[in-house]
Amino acid sequence: MIGVLALQGDYEKHIQILDQLDMASTEVRYPEQLDSIEGLIIPGGESTTMTDLMQRVGFHNPIREFSEKKPILGTCAGLIIMAKPVDDSRIEPLHILDVDVDRNAYGRQVHSFTDHLPVTLNGKSNSTKAAFIRAPKISRIGPSVEVISTYEGEPVAVKQDHHMGLAFHPELDGVTLFHQFVFSTQFESVHAA
Ligand code: GLN
Repeated sequence: MIGVLALQGDYEKHIQILDQLDMASTEVRYPEQLDSIEGLIIPGGESTTMTDLMQRVGFHNPIREFSEKKPILGTCAGLIIMAKPVDDSRIEPLHILDVDVDRNAYGRQVHSFTDHLPVTLNGKSNSTKAAFIRAPKISRIGPSVEVISTYEGEPVAVKQDHHMGLAFHPELDGVTLFHQFVFSTQFESVHAA
């Protein structure tokens, strides 16, 4: 069972992707629910609002503990929340990914765009459609972080241990690749068609 943090943001789109993959899913609203899931998605949305709601329910430490053993996939605001320092003191990041991010660095809503990107997963090449919506920029990459995709020379998708952070939204274009990779125990089964 994969959980999707359902405090705010586009969590329903992630449930749809998990449905497409025939993976059982549940909306997570309370820290106790982490005990009964095998992986977690932190969706896109608004990272300041999401921080606020996470703090009210006391999600930060339980998610950090969860991350020691189980995988987390963060998209856009989710990546911001999984990062280290963020250029906005209203965000309390989880420090799960050893990257720094700048919020909204690709500009405002009107500057949102969709493009096709190359992705490398386990040494295999894939490509993905990627929607960037007020996306963050990854401004520093720690030594144990692997860059799996770049856009115009900048890292936009990273993997560290069993976790992944994406600056874009695969769930808006029905892209199942990343969810399948992170939450499948058979990583080898994911490869280019
Ligand atoms: N700009 C938003 C934030 O800082 C993230 C946008 C998104 O998730 N699409 O939280």
